[in-house]
Amino acid sequence: MHIGIPKETRDGETRVAATPETVKKYVGGKHTVVVERGAGNAARYPDDAYEAAGATLGTAQEALGAGLVMKVRAPDSAELAHMKPGTVVVGMLDPFDADGLAQMAAAGLVGFALEAAPRITRAQSLDVLSSQANLAGYKAVLLAANHYGRLIPMMMTAAGTLKAARAVVLGTGVAGLQAIATAKRLGAVVEASDVRPAAREQVESLGAKFIDVPFETDEEREIAQGTGGYARPMPPAWMARQAALVSERCKQADIVISTALIPGRPAPTLVSAETVAAMKPGSVLVDLAVERGGNCPLSEKGRIVEKHGVTIVGLTNLPGLVATDASALYARNILDFLKLIINADGALAIQRDDEIVAACLVCEGGNVTRRT
Ligand code: NAD
Repeated sequence: MHIGIPKETRDGETRVAATPETVKKYVGGKHTVVVERGAGNAARYPDDAYEAAGATLGTAQEALGAGLVMKVRAPDSAELAHMKPGTVVVGMLDPFDADGLAQMAAAGLVGFALEAAPRITRAQSLDVLSSQANLAGYKAVLLAANHYGRLIPMMMTAAGTLKAARAVVLGTGVAGLQAIATAKRLGAVVEASDVRPAAREQVESLGAKFIDVPFETDEEREIAQGTGGYARPMPPAWMARQAALVSERCKQADIVISTALIPGRPAPTLVSAETVAAMKPGSVLVDLAVERGGNCPLSEKGRIVEKHGVTIVGLTNLPGLVATDASALYARNILDFLKLIINADGALAIQRDDEIVAACLVCEGGNVTRRT
């Protein structure tokens, strides 16, 4: 196939959907690849590295005009205007954005949104949510450490002993678990909360303490199991008990990393404005859920603000801050996914009965095909 790698156009998007490493594999697999000039610059993959891997360099129109286009973010309307009906586009196409899906369908694209892949073992190597959330969790802790005006580990010095920082991690999916591991590596004392009972063992295996919010009804216990590994909205009574416990833990904390999300819904509020007001001056909250409304109402999307003496980091796209590695992992996720839609001869052969393919296919033949 003829594969196009355009430069990402969304503000602040530094990642690229293919690296010289994956381009080399595509070219070796009898594909031709056109990379938009400068597409990898922000991720530190220069044009000559793509050329050395066997790609040709071209314009945005040439990259978007290929039969198979690899993207990080969903194409915007200017990009869609350059894409022919029947173009296959693979990327993080935002499967919950109904308007965006409708636009891609109207443009006649065959769209695969990799975020929609099921969280099953076979899908792990193409799981973009995991590959990117893992880096976000790591970077969140480093950002917190940078904004925290003190040290994280306990230090015994000739001039006296410094206490270890206390970190609270809210939501222990992929990002949260990596945040716990990173905070532990830096020497913090870590506590964590999640609604899914399965999270307890994972939290404890990383050496953190699980903040237990007991279930008081069978309904609470049942909802907390989630669906397909994902959380569901908990009843208000449980949320209120969790908020009270989280508030107590946050007041003692130096660093709070919040990552709690529920697919297709606004992020749950876990750290209220009152809790922030009661937190220690100089403490830091990194709200990884900010793009979906935030786990704290005081978080501001794309900004670092100080409220009641607490630094609240609301930066989005943390994987984009480590764009070289984020792109490397993302590009390998796409490479792996393509095995399900391209045959050994390098021709398009969409395995429609494959559950991963079926879940990721969001539009085709002018229609939105996503089942929500
Ligand atoms: P996510 O980004 O959707 O959500 C982050 C976390 O927030 C989740 O752990 C969720 O339970 C938690 N959360 C939601 N509401 C909360 C609340 N009120 N309080 C505290 N926490 C709350 O999650 P994710 O990182 O995408 O992971 C989702 C699931 O998929 C997890 O169970 C994870 O282990 C699983 N997973 C499986 C595979 C695989 O087997 N292939 C790969 C990756 C992830």
